[in-house]
Amino acid sequence: MTTTQTPRISFEFFPPQSLEASFRLWDTVRALAPLEPSFSSVTYGAGGTTRDLTHEAVATIHKNYGLNVAAHLTCVDATREETMQIAQSYSDAGVTEIVALRGDAPKGAESFTAHPDGFADACELIEALADTGKFKLRVGAYPEPHPDSPSSQADVDWLKRKIDAGAHSAITQFFFEADTFFRFRDACVKEGIDAPIIPGILPIQSWKGAQRFAARCGTSVPTWVAEAFEKAERDDRSELLATSLCTELCSDLLEGGVEDLHFYTLNRPERTRDVCHALGITPSKVLQNVA
Ligand code: FAD
Repeated sequence: MTTTQTPRISFEFFPPQSLEASFRLWDTVRALAPLEPSFSSVTYGAGGTTRDLTHEAVATIHKNYGLNVAAHLTCVDATREETMQIAQSYSDAGVTEIVALRGDAPKGAESFTAHPDGFADACELIEALADTGKFKLRVGAYPEPHPDSPSSQADVDWLKRKIDAGAHSAITQFFFEADTFFRFRDACVKEGIDAPIIPGILPIQSWKGAQRFAARCGTSVPTWVAEAFEKAERDDRSELLATSLCTELCSDLLEGGVEDLHFYTLNRPERTRDVCHALGITPSKVLQNVA
C-alpha cells in the first residue's frame, strides 16, 4: 500500500523541572505548534513524580496554544481514587484525551508492583477511565518485546486486551526500521486489532542518549545504524545523519500506508521540525500568509 497524502502528526513533550527546562519546553511548543499537530501529549514522570508539573504543562499547552492535548497517566504509586481524581482534574481543565499506561517500577523497585489500593495493570486503568465516558484513550504498544514480556505475541495479545478494555488507539515505542513496525502491525491485524496504531518516532538528538534509551526500553539497534553514527560522530555530522535517517524512516512508513506519526521531541524542536519540513509538512500560518 502507498500513500501520497501528508501525514497527520503529533508531538510528545515532557514537563519541565527547572526554570531553564521551562523555557526550553515553551520554545519547543512555540516552534512546533504552527505545524498543526492533531494532538500533543505530555508525559507523566516515573512513579508519578511529575504529577503537578504534568498537569500544569497540559493545561498551559491546551489553554495558551489551543492544542489538543493528551495527558499521560500511569498506575504507579497511587490509589485508584487518587488516579481517578487526577483524571477528573484533566477533564475539569478541558482535556479530553489520556494516554493510559501501567508505568514502570517505582524508584528502587525491580519490577512493577501495583499500589495495594491502586490499579493492577493498564487494562484496569483503561476500563475505569472508559467508564467515565469523558476521554479518548490512547495506550502504549511495543513492536519489539517489552522488557516485561515473554514474547512478541504476548505484547500483541495484551494490546488486544487494552483495546477491548476501551482504548481508541495505540502509540508505539520507538524503533529504527520500518519493517519492525510493519511486522507488528501485521501481527495486530491478524489478532483482530482494528484500532489505529501510531508509530512513535524518535528524532535522535544525541546518539549516546538514544543508545541508553534503546537499552532501557528494549529497542534493538541495527548494526548499520550504530556504524553510521560512529562514523558520523568522527566526521562531526551526526545531526545531519539523524535528520536524514529519521526522514527516511518516516518516508518508508508513509509508503507502507501509515497515516499518523508521533514524534518524541524530547523538548527540542529542531530535529522534529527539520524532519517534518523534509516530509512536506510546513507551517500553515506561513502558507496562509503567502497565499
Ligand atoms: P502494558 O502494555 O500494560 O505492559 C507492557 C507489557 O507487559 C505488555 O505488552 C505485556 O506483554 C506485559 N504485561 C503487562 N501487564 C500484563 C498483564 N496483566 N498480563 C499480561 N501481560 C502483561 N512511562 C511513564 O512513566 N510515563 C509516561 O508518560 C510514559 N509514556 C509512555 C508513552 C508511550 C507511547 C509508551 C510506549 C511508553 C510510555 N511510558 C511512560 C513507558 C511505560 O510506562 C513502560 O513501558 C511500562 O513498563 C509499560 O506501560 P504500558 O502501559 O505500556 O504497559
